[in-house]
Amino acid sequence: MIDTAEIDALVGDGPAQWDAAGRLPVALLRKLGASGALCAEVPARFGGPGAGSLANGELTAHVGALCSSLRSIMTVQGIAAATVRRFGDREQRRRHLAELTSGRLAAVAFSEPDAGSDLSGMTTRIRPDGADGVVVTGTKTWTTGAAYADWIVVLGLNGDGDGVDGAAVVVPTDAPGVSVEPVTAPLGCRAATHCRVHLADVRLPATAVLGGGRQPLPLLFTTALTYGRMSVAWGCVGILRACLRATTHHANNRVQGGVPLSQHQLVARHVAEMYTAERIATQVCRHACEQVDHGAPDAAVAAVLAKQVAATHAARAAADAVQVLASRGFTDGHVVARAYRDAKAMELIEGSTEISQLILAEHALANA
Ligand SMILES: Cc1cc2nc3c(=O)[nH]c(=O)nc-3n(C[C@H](O)[C@H](O)[C@H](O)COP(=O)(O)OP(=O)(O)OC[C@H]3O[C@@H](n4cnc5c(N)ncnc54)[C@H](O)[C@@H]3O)c2cc1C
Repeated sequence: MIDTAEIDALVGDGPAQWDAAGRLPVALLRKLGASGALCAEVPARFGGPGAGSLANGELTAHVGALCSSLRSIMTVQGIAAATVRRFGDREQRRRHLAELTSGRLAAVAFSEPDAGSDLSGMTTRIRPDGADGVVVTGTKTWTTGAAYADWIVVLGLNGDGDGVDGAAVVVPTDAPGVSVEPVTAPLGCRAATHCRVHLADVRLPATAVLGGGRQPLPLLFTTALTYGRMSVAWGCVGILRACLRATTHHANNRVQGGVPLSQHQLVARHVAEMYTAERIATQVCRHACEQVDHGAPDAAVAAVLAKQVAATHAARAAADAVQVLASRGFTDGHVVARAYRDAKAMELIEGSTEISQLILAEHALANA
C-alpha cells in the first residue's frame, strides 16, 4: 500500500484549491484507490492491503489532517467495501472488492429527503423484475462522493411489503435511470461532493443485490454505520492534529504584547484543551478498534462513542484554533478555516450528536 509520505507528496498543497473549486482530482482518487489506501482493511485475498482497523484508523487520521474531503472519499469507499464484505456472496465479494482496490470508486446512499436521522422512514424500493432482475426506485440525498463514483451501494426496502426487510444493491452510476446532482455550495467537505441521486426505475440483474437481499434494515445500517463511525472518528483525530499543529506553531511565533502568544495564559489554555482533546479522541478511537477487532458485543457502541467524542472535540478545537490564529486563520483556504467548516459536518453525519447521545444513553441505562 502507498505510504503516508507518498500520500503527502501526492496531496501537496492541493486541499485549499480543491476546497475552493469544490472538486477533488479524479486521477488522484483512482491512484489512491488502486493502491488500496481508500479501503485498506480489504483482505489480501481480495486484492486489498489487509490492514488492521488501528492501522487503517491512523491512515485515516493522516489523510483527515490533510483534507477532510479526501478523507470523506476514504470513508465512503471503506463503507462500501465493508458492506460488500459483510453481505455479498462469494462472487460479489470477489468482483466488487477487486474493483474497489483497483481504482474504481464507490459511494453509499442511505439518506433520503424525508429519512435522515430516522432511516426506517426510507421509501426506496428494490423490487423483483422478471425471473432474474430487479428494479430500483427512489431518491437519495447527500450521497458523498457520488459525483466521482462508478457505482453506489444503495440501501432500500426489499420488495413491496411493509416489513423491516431491506437490501443493499450495487447501482452503476451509468445505468439508465440514474442521475446524480451535486448539492451546490455545501458548508464543509466541499470537494467531496454531496449529491442527490435519482433512481428512476433502474433495471439491474438480480446479482446486483448483495447476498440476494432480505436482510433486516437495522442490520444493514449498523454494519455500514459502524465502519463509517470509526472512519469519521479517526478523520476527526486528523482534524484535531492539524489544528493543534497550526495553533502551536502560531502561538510560538506570533508576538503580541512583547511575548509570543503562547506565553499569554489564556492562549495557552486553548493549546492545553486542544492537546487534551487530541489525546482523548485518539484513545477512544483505539479502544473502539480493539472492540471491533475482538468482535466484542459492545463494538458498535464503542464506534458510536468514538465518533461522538472525536467529532464534538474536533468541532470545538477547530473553533479554538480559529480563535488563536484570529485574522491569520480567517480565510477560506487556511487549514483551520477548513477544519472549522469541515468539523461541523462531523457532528451531523453517521448519526448526529443527538442520535449518538440517544444510543449511548440507551446503552448506559440498559447496563445500569
Ligand atoms: C457533509 C455530509 C455528508 C453526508 N454524506 C452522506 C452519505 O454519504 N450517504 C448518506 O446516505 N447520507 C449522507 N449524509 C446525510 C446525513 O447522514 C444526514 O444529514 C444525517 O443523518 C441527518 O439527517 P438530516 O440532515 O435529514 O437531519 P434530521 O434527521 O432532519 O435532523 C435534524 C436535527 O434534529 C435532530 N434529531 C432528529 N431526530 C431526533 C431524535 N429522534 N431525537 C433527538 N434529535 C433528533 C438531529 O440530531 C438534527 O440535529 C451526509 C450529510 C452531510 C451534512
